[in-house]
Amino acid sequence: MIVTEKGQVLTSNGTTETKETIRRIALLNAISHRGKAEVQPVLGKVLAEHPHLREKCRQISAVVSEIVEEVNKLPPEQQRVIVEKAWPEALAKEKIEEKRTLPPLPSVEKYERVATRFAPNPDCVLHLGSARAIVLCYEYAKMYDGLFYLRFEDTDPRLKKSALQFYDLIREDLRWLGCEWDDEFIQSDRLSIYYKHAEKILMDGNAYVCTCRPGKFRERALAKQPCPCRDLPSSENLIRWRHMLDGTFKEGEAVVRIKTDLTHPNPAVRDWPALRIIDTELHPHPRVGHEYRVWPLYNFACGIDDHLLGISHVIRGKEHLTNQRRQEYMYEHFGWQYPEAIHYGRLKITGASLSKSKIVEGIRNGIFKDWDDPRLATFAALRRRGITPEAIRRLMIDVGPKTADVVLSWKNLYAHDRKIIDPIANRYFFIRGPKKLSVENVPQTFSVNIPLHPDQPERGFRHFKIEPQEGKASLWVSSDDLKLFKKGKKIRLMELFNFQVQKVRKQLVEAVFHSRSYEEARGIGAPLIHWIPVDTGIPCDVVMPDASVVEGFAEDACKRLRPNEIVQFERFGFIRVDALVEKLTVYFAHR
Ligand SMILES: [Zn+2]
Repeated sequence: MIVTEKGQVLTSNGTTETKETIRRIALLNAISHRGKAEVQPVLGKVLAEHPHLREKCRQISAVVSEIVEEVNKLPPEQQRVIVEKAWPEALAKEKIEEKRTLPPLPSVEKYERVATRFAPNPDCVLHLGSARAIVLCYEYAKMYDGLFYLRFEDTDPRLKKSALQFYDLIREDLRWLGCEWDDEFIQSDRLSIYYKHAEKILMDGNAYVCTCRPGKFRERALAKQPCPCRDLPSSENLIRWRHMLDGTFKEGEAVVRIKTDLTHPNPAVRDWPALRIIDTELHPHPRVGHEYRVWPLYNFACGIDDHLLGISHVIRGKEHLTNQRRQEYMYEHFGWQYPEAIHYGRLKITGASLSKSKIVEGIRNGIFKDWDDPRLATFAALRRRGITPEAIRRLMIDVGPKTADVVLSWKNLYAHDRKIIDPIANRYFFIRGPKKLSVENVPQTFSVNIPLHPDQPERGFRHFKIEPQEGKASLWVSSDDLKLFKKGKKIRLMELFNFQVQKVRKQLVEAVFHSRSYEEARGIGAPLIHWIPVDTGIPCDVVMPDASVVEGFAEDACKRLRPNEIVQFERFGFIRVDALVEKLTVYFAHR
């Protein structure tokens, strides 16, 4: 073997063999890294496979760079197609290796035990936008044999009012996702804990009860000036605190503020509000009614709980960075150590509306039928469509806790899901918009057995029998395939026989038998279509992701399906069985 000056690799068979090896490794690397291969890992693998190339490492490296660059120019779909064609066995192997893991957590050794928490406000069901926080917190806790907590943050009975149904719906969502929690806390059960800490911090002079009008306070804060309440003695603050609790102060008349550096560059951090009064006669809390009138704000309750529950790692979106700054002042006042905080970048999923308020509003207006309306990206909707929780988990592990913003699409989720369900979903024929096909001169009765899964004959078969009446066989075919039906055109009915189109009428296609074998169909380039015998099958409604309904017939074997089964309608897509009464109702997952 010679490496030429230009970096070309010459083997005994010329240059191609080694270059092809590099190309294969680069393509596989690209496929498992969202379309972008990297030189170093590719080079490493090339040298591992061909140790004799190590002496020429520098030249090989140049060839690898060149090939990686070429490969990265290809769209990911094409990369996959090339590999599937040239090295199908390599792709199967790569699938196993592809299982990614999360990068290690920082400073684990500082803590006795890793503890993480997912802390939703029970004012809506969970959706894809919550998946990252849940999956990362859960997976990290498991990775370090730690604890994963569920904490309901329901301390705003006014603006972010929780509702009883959501506590249970959220629990159901988490269970479905496979993220079982080790312990559960509800902040509305913990008011006395927050009160105790409020008193302590007021007594220590690190907080004060501010009775200034919010506008006036803001003006002063912007000017980095203290308000008159700030320097009141703690005895006076404790009296004011009592007056907040006993109703002397009304809603909006007093707030507890945590002292911070008044010159902090972000005015929103300066002396932030920790507890306020809510008129719970007017706005009762769904769990505790009007038992309490002083309610902690987000940073106060969250900060205290994270400490008291022994949370070691707070994993959340970077929009919380300011909240960390705020809470750090409080931690300092209490003499506590702030947990390790990991702030990941924004995650956008194109085509998915992740706005809680839009979901809630749409439900209220009747635009969406329920939380599992297929147009929503709620877990309930994904569940109904048959998207597996494992696919969501894999996607989120894939994205990981990186700080850069990430844009995903439904396609990314579907790709993960397809890998999971393709090997387990049985195949059936579904005829969308059925049209009758009548074939003459059929020479015999056809009994065909089609495997439930093409790669797994051990799963069994679906049986079809075509008994021609006076040489005539009648079948349902899909109106999607009508465009193929031109006079004289030869077409193959999958696994059955080949026919030639004679006449295309509105409700009926007339044809004549052509031949039996698949080889013959292939020889003449006949397209393959699916079918079911007339007088068989079950009416089937497919609810699509846009909530429209596609009507058709599913083959007889579908009468034995059970709700929740996920199967593939051939040439149509994966579906989840929703109900089977007189007709079959299924939800479309993806192609
Ligand atoms: Zn004030």
